[in-house]
Amino acid sequence: MKPQDFNTKEENTWCPGCPNFAILQAFKMAMADLVNEKKVKAKNIAISCGIGCHAKIYDYLDVNAFYGLHGRTIPLCFGMKAGNPDLTVVGFGGDGDTYAEGISHFVHNCRYNVDMTMLVHNNKTFALTTGQATPTSEKGFVGRSTPLGVKDQVLNPIALALVNGATFVARGYTSEVSHLKGLIKKAVLHKGFSFIDILQPCLTFNNFTSYVKDRVYKLDKNYKADNIDLALKKSLEWNYSMEEKAKIPLGIFYQIKKPTFQEKWPQLKKPWYKVERKIKNSELIKEFK
Ligand code: SF4
Repeated sequence: MKPQDFNTKEENTWCPGCPNFAILQAFKMAMADLVNEKKVKAKNIAISCGIGCHAKIYDYLDVNAFYGLHGRTIPLCFGMKAGNPDLTVVGFGGDGDTYAEGISHFVHNCRYNVDMTMLVHNNKTFALTTGQATPTSEKGFVGRSTPLGVKDQVLNPIALALVNGATFVARGYTSEVSHLKGLIKKAVLHKGFSFIDILQPCLTFNNFTSYVKDRVYKLDKNYKADNIDLALKKSLEWNYSMEEKAKIPLGIFYQIKKPTFQEKWPQLKKPWYKVERKIKNSELIKEFK
């Protein structure tokens, strides 16, 4: 299988050069590899998305897909996985989508450890609606909804996921496509909730490329990704603001094994569509008479 085998015939309406193209490409490369390595079946790949520029990825991938509502990617993925555990479920969300509208789903899924992957296209703005502030917009960010600048604390999704029990927490960057492909492969193979916050500058409404490119670095091979204290320390190296001296780690901050939601509830192991229900109508009617 080749990455382009996931292509559709839909016209792509992202802005020319939008870093969303890099996420699309990294995902197609990662999934083609996993199919060729016989770790994933192409027919079992199922995706969902929220609302925003990221969500157009639904149109550009020839896989099973459900176009969701704003911020509701995670519960949709949860439902797909619960309904059919054979599926390889991947959710796509934006930063506004996931960390504003969908924040409760995100936090609780870190606790539940549903076996799915969540890829967040983080451009630190609501891009589709022309540049309003999201929880990861830095203090001082001037947008359509904040003409006087954001005054509030910036949300750090990596730290948030860690303190709420997520079992796979990573950060990628759209200018590092091959690195991102590797992260996606590992995330998809992880048993449990795997989350990658992907820095994806919006060229039109919030282009922070020059800030990020000078500050990113990859966690090295000796980094111990099973140490929560170390992961938290790393997560605090950058607080998603635009501080001059910040360093921005990329890679897997944390990965451990824990029972998945499905493992905690054995009745979810069998696909619901295979559960045979033998209903004796006459007895049921008697019960309600
Ligand atoms: Fe990409 Fe920004 Fe254009 Fe949306 S508005 S397609 S995020 S460059």
